Amino acid sequence: MAELDIHQIPVLSDNYVYLARCRATGMTAVVDPAVAAPVLAEAARLGWTITHILNTHHHGDHVGGNREIMAATGCTVVGPRADRARIPGISVEVDEGDVYRLGECEAKVFFVPGHTSGHIAYWFEESDALFCGDTLFALGCGRLFEGTPEQMWRSLSKLRVLPPETRVFCAHEYTQANARFALSVDAGNSALRSRAAEIDALRAEGRPTVPSTLGSERATNPFLRADDPALAEALGLAGRDPVSVFTEVRHRKDVF
Ligand code: ZN
Ligand code: FE
Repeated sequence: MAELDIHQIPVLSDNYVYLARCRATGMTAVVDPAVAAPVLAEAARLGWTITHILNTHHHGDHVGGNREIMAATGCTVVGPRADRARIPGISVEVDEGDVYRLGECEAKVFFVPGHTSGHIAYWFEESDALFCGDTLFALGCGRLFEGTPEQMWRSLSKLRVLPPETRVFCAHEYTQANARFALSVDAGNSALRSRAAEIDALRAEGRPTVPSTLGSERATNPFLRADDPALAEALGLAGRDPVSVFTEVRHRKDVF
């Protein structure tokens, strides 16, 4: 089994940057470095040598550390082909269906537009790890800056069929606010109510709520449940198609 060791680094006000190291080869990727200094310091502390940067999309809080980490380590930048013009230092372009190899660890690449037009996600199946940037959040999804609700629903539909034990390594700690919103549209969901209580307890101790698991997201994240008749009914949209329900949930979150 080619497995990753994953280390989570909280930076800025609510971003998570990840160091992912192939246990067999020691090759180490930084996923979405918002900034450089804390990432370089953590890698040094762990004794991990950064060889790659994996970017999910072009936003500054995901690529802001690219240049400085490249300069410090000589690492290779991997990112979405569709966004190559907006990813600083990119030299390896990946797209839907590609298999990217970090040492002996394989990631399947998904094209998941919606938050941005070129967003991708990396799924390391053997490590049960999904790096999904700002597409899927714990109990939420990214804002639609460059895409339509239909695109985002299709993108999330690709991710939600992954195995339930998949760990969701999203790029922000937004979970507590997301839980408050989720309860406002899906108060009858008992799994959601108990998860919200767990999240409050974790945050009260200053602990991360990320990663979550896809199984938990499927049961509690309203953005993954737009085809659930109970959610449609709760929103007054009984019988409507999933894209209409998703559009309404996203709109309500935008104005929440
Ligand atoms: Zn973003
Ligand atoms: Fe972000």
